[in-house]
Amino acid sequence: MSHTFCNYVRGQWAECQSKKTFPNINPADTDEIVGHFQASSAEDVQAACAAAAQAQPAWAALPAPRRGEFLFKAAEILESRLPQLGEDMTREEGKTLPEAKAEVKRAINIFRYFGGEGARQFSYQIPSERENVFCYTLRKPLGVIVLITPWNFPSAIPAWKMAPALVAGNAVVIKPASLAPLSAYRLVEALHEAGVPAGAINYVTGSGGSLGNALVEHPAVRAVSFTGSCEVGNALYDRVARRRIRIQLEMGGKNPTIVLKDADLDCAADVLVNGAFFSTGQKCTACSRAIVEKAIYEPLLEKLTAKTRKLKVGYGLEPGIDMGPAVDASQLDTDLKYIAIAKQEGAQLVCGGNRLTGRVFDKGYFLEPTIFTGVTPEMRIAQEEVFGPVLAVLTANDFDDALRLANCVRFGLSASIVSRDLTRVHQFINRIEAGLITVNLPTAGVEYQLPFGGTKESSFGMREQGPLALDFYTETRTVYLKYTQ
Ligand code: NAP
Repeated sequence: MSHTFCNYVRGQWAECQSKKTFPNINPADTDEIVGHFQASSAEDVQAACAAAAQAQPAWAALPAPRRGEFLFKAAEILESRLPQLGEDMTREEGKTLPEAKAEVKRAINIFRYFGGEGARQFSYQIPSERENVFCYTLRKPLGVIVLITPWNFPSAIPAWKMAPALVAGNAVVIKPASLAPLSAYRLVEALHEAGVPAGAINYVTGSGGSLGNALVEHPAVRAVSFTGSCEVGNALYDRVARRRIRIQLEMGGKNPTIVLKDADLDCAADVLVNGAFFSTGQKCTACSRAIVEKAIYEPLLEKLTAKTRKLKVGYGLEPGIDMGPAVDASQLDTDLKYIAIAKQEGAQLVCGGNRLTGRVFDKGYFLEPTIFTGVTPEMRIAQEEVFGPVLAVLTANDFDDALRLANCVRFGLSASIVSRDLTRVHQFINRIEAGLITVNLPTAGVEYQLPFGGTKESSFGMREQGPLALDFYTETRTVYLKYTQ
């Protein structure tokens, strides 16, 4: 019998009003139910928002360094449980255990980083043009913030939203993805044990489709930070715009890696395999397009396919596994649908393309890492986000052609180049339409202490993470103070 996990509202673990639950199923072994979670309704969301509204003034009145101390304490608690939290994540999301542990470590680092922000929260002191007038700005929290998070980074994304929101003095209501709610639960549990006052952090699970309105329309909510699909994010924006409250959207990608003819081809193949297939390609920053100069196409493809065929697919808790399953049946269907579309549109399948069956594979949603060549820019596989281990290879005549191909999509999250030509690299950095740019590194694998976010249809609003994250969670007040005799 698997455990039933509660919502966390007003400092209490509680069942939802309907007492209904939904199962969290292991995508590598669908016989295993990782846990049951509360199938909350709008009333539960309203109770969480009301609790946050009530708690927020006292939380904001605490000196910011003291708020930071709660994050340091929670980080310590998480660190003491890191191996177990990694296993929890592999069970609910499917990524390999080393990937899961690295993500939990990242969440811990994020809590520590923003714990430190409690003692910084820098603002400006600006000279006045008048005598004896002292001018400066203050950062103020916004109030209640709603966080809506996806399943693919079920610990890091909740952490990188909760930590800056809390340290800035806001109260939070978080609704994690229904496919992977346990990892965010573990963060909230650590904050509870660290002594965060009741109501400052609230956790509600349930279907985003049915809770969406209640989450963004409660009058106390002053901002929404969302990470997920463009479809849901754009619909949320329309609803939130009517209320003129703040919103931050991090959404899809179709991230390219350009490989120029002077590239180290072993490095290029490593960059592509890591970017396209690690975490089963289920990263918003995963590389889904390789754009290769014709001169090195043949030797690069040979290295790329050889490395890809060596990847070991399986249950992420087993040692030596490189790639876990798709997160659920629906994502696996999407992957297979795009593989079929690519074939119909005339792309050539050179590697993978099949669901894995037999032995352990029958219990999970396993797919071979897949490579298509002969992809042209108008094909759907070159334009649409698949969110699975499917790499489209396009060829380019030269650097300018490669850049044109890289930029001819509606997304602009991350992009990389593999080259030793410094001039080309700088031209790429200046002209590529992406928020995250890497050189001789995969498109994925960004660090918590730097700003994160995209351009074009991938993102909207202020940057997350690093020193810019507090801008979203605070409002600036400007002070003019005249001192007299
Ligand atoms: P999703 O379906 O958009 O779901 C994201 C979150 O929104 C989940 O918590 C979901 O709840 C909730 N939701 C669903 N419908 C809603 C509605 N009508 N109103 C309010 N909330 C709603 O995305 P996903 O499948 O979890 O994640 C995959 C997508 O996320 C990909 O497109 C990926 O590129 C993107 N992503 C982007 C970034 C980035 O930083 N740019 C990072 C990671 C992932 P339920 O789970 O209950 O449906």
